[in-house]
Amino acid sequence: MTDTMTPEQRHRCMSHIKGSGTKPELKVRRWLWSHGYRYRLNVKSVPGKPDIVMRPYRTAIFVNGCFWHGHGVAEPPIQDSRFKVQSSKCCKIPTTNREFWVAKIRRNQERDRENYRVLQENGWQVIVIWECQLTPKRLEHTMREVELLLNDNLLSLYKHHTPIPYSTGEEDTPLPMAAEGETEYIKQS
Ligand SMILES: [Zn+2]
Repeated sequence: MTDTMTPEQRHRCMSHIKGSGTKPELKVRRWLWSHGYRYRLNVKSVPGKPDIVMRPYRTAIFVNGCFWHGHGVAEPPIQDSRFKVQSSKCCKIPTTNREFWVAKIRRNQERDRENYRVLQENGWQVIVIWECQLTPKRLEHTMREVELLLNDNLLSLYKHHTPIPYSTGEEDTPLPMAAEGETEYIKQS
């Protein structure tokens, strides 16, 4: 690869290279750990090698850099050459060597999508956290949302694996179809 990056782009490159211990990922790990969540990192046996794996929740977390993973960059079918890939608010595609960067980001997006698909097919829940959601201002809010998703995943696992201990008899009671006002409306039509 020829060196066509501006110092600013290079800096972005260096700080966002995907690998263990990148800064955004660390923020997520610290938050989870300090709130009592335990996890594993880059588990090779899990498809797509997610950044953070939480087996009891059957959840894989990816912490994505906005530039490399094309956050907000529309993903038309790659064959559609008429479509011009546009920069987004947090993924500014360099104007120099633009085609190279577009192709690179598109490949990453494709790979991400494929990883998420394989995981979901294997019964994993996938949570994607974007770097821009981890600014000091947004971190807490983002992680509270992640926490809700985690608990939701746990709940649905519990629901599917725990048999109902006994019948309450309520199953036989027909549920009301709609509120009265709505029933009226249906009758009229
Ligand atoms: Zn972003």
